[in-house]
Amino acid sequence: MTERSEIEPVARVINGKAIAARLTGEIGKAVATLRSVHGVQPGLAVILMGDDPASQVYVRNKARQTVAAGMQSFDHNLDGSAPESELLDLISRLNSDPSAHGILVQLPLPDHINVNLVMEAIDPAKDVDGFHPVNVGRLATGEAGLVPGTPLGCIILAKDVTPDLTGHEAVVIGRSNIVGKPVAQLLLAENCTVTIAHSRTRDLPGVVRRADLLIAAAGVPELVQGDWVKPGAIVIDVGINRVPAPERGEGKTKLVGDVAFDSVSQVAGAITPVPGGVGPMTIACLMRNTVQAACSIHGIDYVEPIVDSEKAV
Ligand code: NAD
Repeated sequence: MTERSEIEPVARVINGKAIAARLTGEIGKAVATLRSVHGVQPGLAVILMGDDPASQVYVRNKARQTVAAGMQSFDHNLDGSAPESELLDLISRLNSDPSAHGILVQLPLPDHINVNLVMEAIDPAKDVDGFHPVNVGRLATGEAGLVPGTPLGCIILAKDVTPDLTGHEAVVIGRSNIVGKPVAQLLLAENCTVTIAHSRTRDLPGVVRRADLLIAAAGVPELVQGDWVKPGAIVIDVGINRVPAPERGEGKTKLVGDVAFDSVSQVAGAITPVPGGVGPMTIACLMRNTVQAACSIHGIDYVEPIVDSEKAV
């Protein structure tokens, strides 16, 4: 369901949902080949601790799409008050379970859990979220490894508009370990000139105006305004923010990104919507990573699925 107003965008609206569906379709074919030719069925284990409703929805979607792609899905639910040692024991068991090629611990974790310790407990070969320091290091040094899904999804969407990003001025808003920093590394690998802006950046609009490619991942509703954006720029909006929508009725809410869609879509060359942009790519890239992990564990060459470009009309 679209949650935007009636203003017609000038920019091409990048259909993340359609691109993710095509990627998932290609992954399904790769899984079928792995099963029939190599006798390997990739498996993804997802650990959910506690009963956060948003996390429960994410975990359900991941399980559904994993099974739809022909893979095995293993769900593990731990009580929100379970000791850290219980979570670490479970990870240790999954590390040595040959049917689990990918292990994902749904974030956020309860306050009494040391997130870094948990990430470091996952076997880097099964770290399909790409948060283990070994995979972070591989990304930074340009070695092959597992790359976080959301940043990877951002790059696939940007390259759907411009397959060669070489020489682009790229600006990333946000320096988190899960989005901002890894997406900046991926942009460097694509030969972009990269600036990372954050909450202490001076003159954010001035920095953003330099961008041929903007990745907004600040978690601030509609932070980026139309007059901040270079005409023709590619704008990838990672933000997912739930805000009040009194125009829809009392107590109603809606999702918005970190980009003011109506004004920016009048200036940009291409833009991702929220919802329906980066969000669907995150799970598709997780599926991709699970296949990559299964191939690597079994010594099978991983072939990157080709996703046909969706051209602007
Ligand atoms: P975070 O809170 O960990 O990091 C936010 C970053 O933005 C920080 O580095 C901070 O310095 C910067 N920032 C905050 N306010 C700013 C401002 N006013 N100006 C400039 N920089 C500012 O958040 P995160 O985990 O990186 O997530 C960012 C957003 O992306 C959130 O809205 C989150 O919900 C969304 N997200 C979406 C997906 C997806 O699948 N689409 C996945 C992960 C995160």
